[in-house]
Amino acid sequence: MKKVVVIGGGASGLFAAITAAKQGAFVTIIEHKDRVGKKILSTGNGRCNYTNAYLNASCYYDNGFAMEVIDQFPVDKTLEAFKEMGIWPKSRDGYYYPHSDQASSVLDILRYELEKQKIVVKTETMIQSIKSSKGQFQLTLTNGKLKADAIILACGGLAAPTTGSDGSGYELAKLFGHKIHKPVPGLTGVSCEEKFFKELSGIRVQAKIQAKIKDKLMEEEGEVQLAAYGISGIPTFQLCRYIARQKTCEITLDFMPNIGYIELVDYLQTHTKDQYVGMINKKLLGVLLKRYGEQPKKLAQGIKQFKVTAIGTSDFTKAQVTSGGVYCDEINPQTMQSNLVPNLYFAGELVDVDGKCGGYNLQWAWSSGYVAGLNAGRIDE
Ligand SMILES: Cc1cc2nc3c(=O)[nH]c(=O)nc-3n(C[C@H](O)[C@H](O)[C@H](O)COP(=O)(O)OP(=O)(O)OC[C@H]3O[C@@H](n4cnc5c(N)ncnc54)[C@H](O)[C@@H]3O)c2cc1C
Repeated sequence: MKKVVVIGGGASGLFAAITAAKQGAFVTIIEHKDRVGKKILSTGNGRCNYTNAYLNASCYYDNGFAMEVIDQFPVDKTLEAFKEMGIWPKSRDGYYYPHSDQASSVLDILRYELEKQKIVVKTETMIQSIKSSKGQFQLTLTNGKLKADAIILACGGLAAPTTGSDGSGYELAKLFGHKIHKPVPGLTGVSCEEKFFKELSGIRVQAKIQAKIKDKLMEEEGEVQLAAYGISGIPTFQLCRYIARQKTCEITLDFMPNIGYIELVDYLQTHTKDQYVGMINKKLLGVLLKRYGEQPKKLAQGIKQFKVTAIGTSDFTKAQVTSGGVYCDEINPQTMQSNLVPNLYFAGELVDVDGKCGGYNLQWAWSSGYVAGLNAGRIDE
């Protein structure tokens, strides 16, 4: 019987293990935490946004590698597979959640499937060494030894490290000669230099954000949250992966993206300062007036082009995803097999693929796990 070892029991590892077992392989999961799937429990604010009806290449920040993999296990197949395992889908504007609205139900059904497929799960187990020779592997663990015909590395990146993704997967990938694109926090807040953010903490405002990344202007729009340290909220999250790779970054916020400059000047000229509170959050107005004064044209410019300097992002403990990882050009997207080492496969966030908010990172975990499991578990005639 073909022996497949999956290192990492997160979303991608569990899905890879189930797929490999369905191919007829004997599968063992090695997980260094006390239980598998910890991160799944905190996804989607405890509800698990496990995929999205609106998915295309623009949802991922890579050169098309992710879509080559996802096309082999797309959204409809994902929904079908989860439904077969027991998850009834609930769509909120195309964002899919389990009907139970409990992320724990996703983990429960995956764990049930592990049992059904007779997959061995070794928790609190660390890898001490892996030797490979002629396409076979010898693993020395903290509690024994294992032989494998194929290995799937699914250790995640560095985001939310208390769930187990502590970056040790990069060291395992490096053992096999793989190179790592420097990991930085993705989908998290951005720290800004300006002191006035302390006064703005807690404000939520519909805004457009522009970030100057090298010579390119990147733009996102949506609900921006102002915090004591800087800015947060989904539009900020989407830009953070770029900002994290720069020392500083000039950011421009438009606090009234749906109103033109001329219209805004007209409003400011025909209303008094006390009436402006009907247009913009009171605390924010205070900072705007202090910064730009009462002259309508200057104030309108400040509202529509509020410039701040980003000096970094929140750290990995607050990040939802890792941007960076094992370089995609060292992996075959048709199989998720390493181009360097035969029978070594990759899945999930360990790879240099990250997606936007909205179920896209879990979809990457399912699809890459599926493709890796299918090919690692395949019994050659
Ligand atoms: C708070 C939060 C909310 C999120 N919400 C969503 C959402 O709603 N929708 C969405 O699409 N995405 C969401 N994400 C992102 C998504 O959860 C991840 O991209 C996805 O779970 C990654 O799966 P993974 O299996 O690749 O890695 P991980 O989930 O990080 O799993 C890696 C596993 O490998 C184990 N491991 C690591 N190193 C070793 C080793 N050396 N030996 C043995 N085991 C090891 C870890 O303990 C862990 O169990 C969220 C993330 C966070 C943090």
